[in-house]
Parts: sequence; C-alpha cells; structure tokens
Amino acid sequence: MDILEQISLKSYNTFGLDVKAQHFCAITSKEDIEQLIKKEWKNFHRHLILGGGSNVLLCKDVEGLVIKNNIVGIEILKEDENNVWVKSYSGTTWHDVVLFCVDKGWYGIENLSLIPGTIGAAPIQNIGAYGAELKDVFVELEAIDLETASTKIFTKEQCQFGYRDSIFKHEAKGKYFIFSVTLKLSKQPNINIAYGDIQKVLEEKNIQSPNAKNISDAVIQIRESKLPNPKDLGNAGSFFKNPEITTTEFNRIQQVFPQIPKYDLANGNKKIPAAWLIEQCGWKGKRIGETGNHAKQALVLVNYGNAKGNEIWQHALHVQQSVQEKFGILLEPEVNVIQ
Ligand SMILES: Cc1cc2nc3c(=O)[nH]c(=O)nc-3n(C[C@H](O)[C@H](O)[C@H](O)COP(=O)(O)OP(=O)(O)OC[C@H]3O[C@@H](n4cnc5c(N)ncnc54)[C@H](O)[C@@H]3O)c2cc1C
Repeated sequence: MDILEQISLKSYNTFGLDVKAQHFCAITSKEDIEQLIKKEWKNFHRHLILGGGSNVLLCKDVEGLVIKNNIVGIEILKEDENNVWVKSYSGTTWHDVVLFCVDKGWYGIENLSLIPGTIGAAPIQNIGAYGAELKDVFVELEAIDLETASTKIFTKEQCQFGYRDSIFKHEAKGKYFIFSVTLKLSKQPNINIAYGDIQKVLEEKNIQSPNAKNISDAVIQIRESKLPNPKDLGNAGSFFKNPEITTTEFNRIQQVFPQIPKYDLANGNKKIPAAWLIEQCGWKGKRIGETGNHAKQALVLVNYGNAKGNEIWQHALHVQQSVQEKFGILLEPEVNVIQ
C-alpha cells in the first residue's frame, strides 16, 4: 500500500473536477485500512474517504490524505425459504450488488438500480429512488473506528436513517470507515411500481407480472432518459434535498403559488420537490460559464467540462439564495461539499 503525492482526482469524482490530493492511497483490504490508521493516521491532519466520488463536490485541492476504497466482494451469509442475507464489502459498486440480486430473482433493491457509487457510501445518505430506500433492506454494517482501528457493528436502529440522512452525517460524521454492509432481500415478489414512470414503461413493454429484473430494467431505462451520465457531463445527481415544510408554511406559499406540488408526510408536514422550486426561479437549463442547471432536471448541477469546484459551489449558493428569496425555503445540499 503506497501513499502517493499530488494525485489528480479528476477520474475519482463524477463532477470530473481536476483537483489534486496532496496525499493519496488506494486500499484493497481490511488490513490496509487498519494499518493506515495505526501507522499513518497521525501524519495527516485531514482525511477524505472516496468511494465512487458520485456525491462529493471537491471545491479545491484536498489537503491531507485521500483514501480510495477498493475493497470489493459480495457474499451470501445465509438464506431461508423467504429471504437471503447478502454482505458486500464497501468498495463494491452499488449497481453490481443490485444486478447480483436481481439476476438471482431476489427482491428489495431493484428500484435502486443504477444509482452510482459504492455500497459503503449508500448508508451515509440512506440512498433512495422510486419509492425505495436502502433502510428498507438494511440489516447492519461493519465500521472501523478511525481513531482506534477497532471494528464496530451498527444496526439499522443505530444508523438512525432518515430521508437522505443517517448518523454518519451527524455525530458519527468522519469517525468511521464503513467496511461492509449486509442487506436482507426477499425471495418472494415484493414489488413497488407505483412511483414515477415504472408502471408506464412496463405497460409499454407489455409486462403484466413484472419480476425484479423487469423492474430494474425499467428503472435503468427511465434513469438513462432523464439523468445526465457523468461520463458525458460531470454531475453528482440531485444537488439539493427536497425540503420538508410545515402545513402552515405550505399554506402561506400556496396562497401565492397555487400550483405548488407536495407530498404529504406521515408527520403532517409536506415535502416539496426542490426541482420545482428551482425551476420556478428560472434556473432550468441555465448555463453560466462552465456550470449550470441541467436542461432536463433542474436539480442536477453540471460541469460542462472546465468548471472549478468552487465555481459550481458559488452557482449552488446563487440557486439556494434565489429559492429562499422567492419561497422563504432554505434548500439543503445533498452533495457533500468538501472545502
Ligand atoms: C447521476 C447520479 C445520479 C444519482 N442518483 C441518486 C439517487 O437516485 N439516489 C441517491 O440517494 N443518490 C443518488 N446519487 C448520489 C450518489 O450516487 C450516492 O450518494 C452514492 O451513495 C454515493 O456513493 P459514492 O461511493 O460515490 O460516495 P462518495 O461520493 O465517494 O462519498 C460520499 C460521502 O461518503 C463518504 N464515504 C464514502 N465511502 C465511505 C466509506 N466506506 N466509509 C465512510 N465514509 C465513506 C465520503 O467521504 C463522502 O463524504 C446520484 C449521483 C449521480 C452522479
């Protein structure tokens, strides 16, 4: 395991930002990360763990040590008539885990097809799409304490999952290396096609009783038609979270903007699509220099090729400010902004 110096991170982040890591190290085993913590940690005042780099905005060169996680592998831990428990090492590509399960006919993560990145980062923001979230199938994860190198298990309850949220964004932030994630999949059909265009795509294909693979294929088709592929246009998916507001706030805004869309939440609050708020402020498809809001999805900020990380961040702040001025709602970034 070599520690390299002044390494370009352009191919390690989906925004395609050409910043440098002052020090860089790729790890492929549990021993690697344990050794790194025990022997090298104190030499670096900052650390950044990178999976697929699909949820980070690197505003400038990264001081300290960047750890690229290449610990991969998928294992079936146990199974019974109805369920199967699958453990994946954290550097495994999330979509590879989805395909592994879908190909075996197991249900639970087909709606989460084609989300970029690694399974190790998936619990951090409790990834979600098309009416499903990681927490629905999550059993536990193994994490390595970045101070002591000891291993700790986090159960679902201990992860404190919320909407694009977990303990790893709060009190456990920056304290652990997530080493493995165990999921419980269902062998029995347990489908959810109510969300988005899944039903429509299945109808177009004349599929009446869809299996996990059919749903996964439909989700892939929809995502490929709507979201820019980072290989063609740098981006990190949705830049902001969909804000949650009280009914009182919602009623206030609805008086001025009667067409405001919302989802009713169990706690009585309303969730507002951030994309709609941003569109109303005129940002959809707007390009400023080398950055801007994607033409098909205003919530996605893009790098047209030569943007600097800080330029994208300043653009994000303008978008945030205009939404706050127009609606009184403060958008919270979903992307991890590394400054
Ligand atoms: C085109 C596109 C579409 C997307 N669509 C969705 C979507 O539908 N739903 C959704 O939820 N997300 C979506 N995302 C966001 C992203 O794919 C997820 O957040 C994903 O889980 C990030 O994984 P990663 O490995 O790339 O994480 P990275 O970007 O590498 O890291 C993200 C954060 O996690 C930390 N981290 C990474 N690995 C570890 C580890 N092993 N231990 C401890 N900390 C770690 C990093 O330090 C960083 O703070 C999308 C992104 C893109 C580019």
